[in-house]
Amino acid sequence: MYDNLLANVPTDLYIGGKWRPATDKGRFDVIDPATEATIASVASAGTEDAKAAVDAASDAFPGWAARKPRERGEILRKAFELIMQHAERFARLITLENGKALSDSRGEVAYSAEFFRWYAEEAVRNIGEVSRAPTSGARILVQHRPAGVAVLVTPWNFPAAMATRKIGPALAAGCTIVLKPASETPLTMLALMPLLEEAGVPGGVVNVIPSRRSGPVVGAMLADPRVRVISFTGSTETGRKLLHGAADQVIKPAMELGGNAPFIVFEDADIDAAIEGAMVAKMRNIGEACTAANRFYVQEKIHDEFAKKLSERMGALKVGNGLEDGVAVGPLVNADTRNKVVNLVEDAVGKGAKVLIGGKPPNGKGFFYPATVITQVPDDAQLLREEIFGPVAAIQTFQSEDDVVARANDTEYGLVAYLYTRDIGRGLRVSERLEFGMVGLNRGLVSDPAAPFGGMKQSGIGREGAHEGLMEFMETQYISVSW
Ligand code: NAD
Repeated sequence: MYDNLLANVPTDLYIGGKWRPATDKGRFDVIDPATEATIASVASAGTEDAKAAVDAASDAFPGWAARKPRERGEILRKAFELIMQHAERFARLITLENGKALSDSRGEVAYSAEFFRWYAEEAVRNIGEVSRAPTSGARILVQHRPAGVAVLVTPWNFPAAMATRKIGPALAAGCTIVLKPASETPLTMLALMPLLEEAGVPGGVVNVIPSRRSGPVVGAMLADPRVRVISFTGSTETGRKLLHGAADQVIKPAMELGGNAPFIVFEDADIDAAIEGAMVAKMRNIGEACTAANRFYVQEKIHDEFAKKLSERMGALKVGNGLEDGVAVGPLVNADTRNKVVNLVEDAVGKGAKVLIGGKPPNGKGFFYPATVITQVPDDAQLLREEIFGPVAAIQTFQSEDDVVARANDTEYGLVAYLYTRDIGRGLRVSERLEFGMVGLNRGLVSDPAAPFGGMKQSGIGREGAHEGLMEFMETQYISVSW
């Protein structure tokens, strides 16, 4: 099963358009979370390799930045088409290294490719401004230019999309890249490189350096004055470290960090629509998403109906190897992630929460955890404070709008909130009171390449997607002109 899929996936470092082992020959294993079998051994970059990658990106920068925006756009468009041609192979590879069900992986591949299509179109919309200075009468000419070498660091939960959401705008802007994918899931991005070459991306423009030594490797790049952007997606804890690291060279940060999404259902909501939305917001990616609904707040009157319907839907989901037909709940990515879910559920149940469905991991190989619904969750349960990152829906009830807004906002995170109501006035009023960068109003999915994705508070800095995502990779220059 593995051989076919992995036969053409490169496993070395990709630097300056060439494949090569790590300088110290270090390698690390990639594990299939469904079987715990080793599926590949990948080169593990050290700090010398990181320097070589920055050298390559820096050398390639003037040429790439000088290419006409239309040319860069057409290369991105071609990359979109190539990914779609190879969509099934990418989907299977994502499932193999991450565990998620094939249906989730197929969705991810389409979503990832869209960032190339969207930024193929945005590459030609780098629009500046001319205005007249109010007092001096000089002209104010404003232009945006590529920021320079960008270091991209991505997590394992979306091995393709979290990277293409950065690569697309960086290339459109005219930046060159060093990408460090997550060590759990390096294969998907390595497999993308031959396609980018085929699309016409020149050597050195995109470099990929998986590593087991992320801290020192990324740290070495942040100490390099040639690096001008650090774009990170991952945990708030790691994001904080990278922000400290970026401070010395004053590198422009873009941070997509953790979330703790509330999912609010008012008693006037269309309950069936709310259940559909809940299934997506909770179960897309087995709950291993920064956007995953983490805390369900259901108005008292409809709690029983909502909890019953959600349990029926969750209980019907088949658990198993993500590559098998009909499986909706693949394994979690690794033992730590699964153990965290186990502990969070035990903590909540120990404090009085009631399990409606699921709640216990199966025995045997693989990091499986079943779809789980718990209710009567007490206020001091840890899972209301932390990202669960697994297939567990934790329900509490609420009485009033003020009560639920206060509880939803009572977190250091501010990535996404969901709310369901038939009263659109209430929906918009509550949305505006929520301290979250994104709100799903009668929708369980907000991700869209054409929309600015990102969080408030400790969920991040900056936005990905939309035109704003392009601006993260650009510097504004203003020329004061007399003519
Ligand atoms: P993580 O922070 O552990 O790792 C993310 C990346 O950083 C990986 O490539 C990892 O190797 C690297 N890394 C880890 N320690 C590092 C260090 N000291 N220096 C430099 N690099 C380091 O996160 P994860 O467990 O891979 O991903 C899950 C987290 O990502 C969750 O908190 C989730 O909410 C978040 N996430 C956020 C978004 C978003 O858009 N806001 C999207 C997806 C995931």
